[in-house]
Amino acid sequence: MDKSNTTKGKIVIVSGPSGVGKSTICREVARRTENVYPSVSVTTRPPGKDEKQGKNYWFVSKEDFQQRAGKGEFLEHAEVFGHLYGTPKDKVEQALNQGRAVILEIDVQGAKQVKTVYPDAVMVFILPPSARVLAERLGRRGRDSRCAAEKRLGGASDEIAAARQYYQHLVINENLEQAIKEVMQIIHKGSIEEK
Ligand code: 5GP
Repeated sequence: MDKSNTTKGKIVIVSGPSGVGKSTICREVARRTENVYPSVSVTTRPPGKDEKQGKNYWFVSKEDFQQRAGKGEFLEHAEVFGHLYGTPKDKVEQALNQGRAVILEIDVQGAKQVKTVYPDAVMVFILPPSARVLAERLGRRGRDSRCAAEKRLGGASDEIAAARQYYQHLVINENLEQAIKEVMQIIHKGSIEEK
């Protein structure tokens, strides 16, 4: 169990191309680490078949999203592949005040916005072992139409180029267990203590 102070009030941004395994990694890191709050974003994207309201995302209409954005409810927000995504500010602040580490699974545009508010945010980018593996994973996931999947794959190379410039930590998800451990190590700056 992690009783150390290394996670205290820390923001950890996890980005990476669609299908790279970010959600699985973040979920496992949060499950295995004490005092971690995985932020749940608000989105206008329709839910996938196994996705649940309030668990994967808060699924809302475009009007609702824009209203929240107008009221300044988001720490950051961005349009990604034609849909709007935003991080609820109050939940993040609450978790930080409780001394928890906050994991934000967001894209590069959002990461840059968060960095301006929280310059100490730790930035992790998850990479696929190869473009071919990424395409296979995206196809296997089957959540996107062919056209949407191609859009996501096309966006991946731009994101990866940006990552090399902005992110302090690059983690290759070749072996899931290894990638989870690496992210945990980054959060704890070397001291992993599991729940
Ligand atoms: P997906 O539709 O596959 O769940 O997410 C698409 C992209 O949007 C991913 O790169 C994901 O990290 C990003 N994303 C998810 N939530 C947020 C958010 O709250 N803000 C930003 N900027 N990007 C997000």
